[in-house]
Amino acid sequence: MTAIHAPAGVLYIVATPIGNLGDITARAIETLKSVALIAAEDTRHSARLLQHFGIQTRMASYHDFSDDARVEQLLRTLLDGQSIALISDAGTPLISDPGYRLVSAVRAQGVKVVPVPGVCAAFAALSAAGIPSDRFTFEGFPPAKQAARLKLFESLQREPRTLVFYESPHRILDCVDDMARGFGSERMAVIARELTKTFETIHGDTLGALQQWLRADENQQRGEFVILLRGAEPVQDEQVPPEARRVLAVLLEELSVKQATALASRLTGVKKNLLYALALEGAASAGDEPSST
Ligand code: SAM
Repeated sequence: MTAIHAPAGVLYIVATPIGNLGDITARAIETLKSVALIAAEDTRHSARLLQHFGIQTRMASYHDFSDDARVEQLLRTLLDGQSIALISDAGTPLISDPGYRLVSAVRAQGVKVVPVPGVCAAFAALSAAGIPSDRFTFEGFPPAKQAARLKLFESLQREPRTLVFYESPHRILDCVDDMARGFGSERMAVIARELTKTFETIHGDTLGALQQWLRADENQQRGEFVILLRGAEPVQDEQVPPEARRVLAVLLEELSVKQATALASRLTGVKKNLLYALALEGAASAGDEPSST
């Protein structure tokens, strides 16, 4: 294999495995070997990875809550013409992981930032879950506090795109319980656990059934999780009469989605959440004829 020599003064964003060490790319290894410094979320954790691949590059720690002095220090190294690779504990840096502050500071100075892509748990889960992946929204970790979590789920209830969440073992049960409350227990979801590892499990069912499935086997509550939810089904024609659609469409020309749906609901008696969903779908059309019946 030809060695890749890092051009001077580049910040490489290098993805590392999320469990199976075989998932590191050849380019990632070459980059980690060739740079002057590896900025790592947890240097002790990453030392094992580097040792496994015989990488002897010096490491320094970096978090988004590192002080400005650390960002300055890394920036100076780059401006001095030395390249740095940023890695996180697992997967792609900046995806629910540190790096945003550094990347934005480095780019603001006109220094080149180059991704060295690889594994990301969200994409691995999406690729194997068997639910729509053409349009999705990545929500990261839901809030730890229940009130905030429920509020978020309720606000996403009518989202038509697939929803992707990360969750930790100590909150998986509470999270799925609250999803069943916020999205309804009939919503289809997939739990992708321990991806690329020995106990990898990808299991899909309704949220109600998943609550029972998790409780029936404590082993299913262990490890790392991606939870994928099917998006909301489009509003059916029979759920919103043509007259209500027309009222909504007219109001949307003048008002915000929230105001228009609230007012249309008062005027037509159709549920606000249905009108809201319709407004988001862009399905309300001012050209629709009112019902003749
Ligand atoms: N940067 C990582 C990525 O690219 O996916 C994510 C880091 S985030 C701090 C860690 C979370 O990612 C875990 O709590 C879990 O939700 C998800 N995750 C990471 N590895 C996973 C795996 N092997 N299987 C399932 N989910 C995983």
